[in-house]
Amino acid sequence: MTTQPIQGIHHITVFASDPQKNIDFYTQVLGQRFVKKTVNFDNPSTYHLYYGDNVGSPGTIMTFFPWPMAKRGTRGNGEVAASAYGILASSVSYWKERLKEFNISFQTERRFGQDVLIFQDPDGMFVELIVTDGDPAPAHWANGPIPQEHALRGFHGVTIWVHNAQGTSTLLSGLFGFEKIAEEGDRIRFQGAGKFGQYIDLVVRPNAPRGQMGAGTIHHVALRTVDDSEQLAWQTVLRNYGFGVTDVKDRQYFHSIYFREPSGTLFEVATDAPGFAWDEPVETLGRDLKLPPWLEIDREKIEDHVVPITVAEYTAA
Ligand code: ZN
Repeated sequence: MTTQPIQGIHHITVFASDPQKNIDFYTQVLGQRFVKKTVNFDNPSTYHLYYGDNVGSPGTIMTFFPWPMAKRGTRGNGEVAASAYGILASSVSYWKERLKEFNISFQTERRFGQDVLIFQDPDGMFVELIVTDGDPAPAHWANGPIPQEHALRGFHGVTIWVHNAQGTSTLLSGLFGFEKIAEEGDRIRFQGAGKFGQYIDLVVRPNAPRGQMGAGTIHHVALRTVDDSEQLAWQTVLRNYGFGVTDVKDRQYFHSIYFREPSGTLFEVATDAPGFAWDEPVETLGRDLKLPPWLEIDREKIEDHVVPITVAEYTAA
């Protein structure tokens, strides 16, 4: 059985608290399109919110489980500690100004020779904007607040905090087709295949504590595989290496398998298909509450339970 290399990051899934603050931040501050309004399939009285580029391309998708009363979590080893989007070098001052405009404090850093802007989302998740060379560009959300030349360029990658790098490094470079390309202080960078989200950084923090899940912490990172048969091939390969891999789960917009990588971070391997436009047209992505067929019978009850949210702009693609 052969497997193609993992194609970078598919999506990142995070816990949040107030869904309206979450929507306002990701759509109005960061200019990501709200591409799907659905519920947490395991807890249908709460939302699962998805943001991405104009068409919901894999590699641009940030998803949230907002629990209005959720307490903040703490970051720690064995999890994704920061999510990064790419921006063009010519957009750095635009984004600094924009963050100031919204009273969002940020830090700047030079990392592997690139400018990085670091700030927090409303629940304290670290969001980074990292200068990339510009290709490729995601599908621009023309009705969003950001002009195309300054829009986010899909994911740059994620940073994972680990006790030691060995197990995760072996998985990334030995199995997933990533290459270790740089090392700086306690940070090691791996580059994989794919269009967006090619980078995974490990930050080595020996004996630092694990975190506690809660608002602002990242539940898992999903890596991208091309189709269902590749996903099954990965399931077999990973099981043969001793990983406890789940069965395939139907997430409606992609199919998923999950396992914990050697440092403890929850990884998912997700398919591109069927994508976000299978149950509503691209023009109105995110407008209506979408439910999987097995929850449709409870629609009325669900709509009564979830808190009302509004999206400023979703009319045209
Ligand atoms: Zn996921």
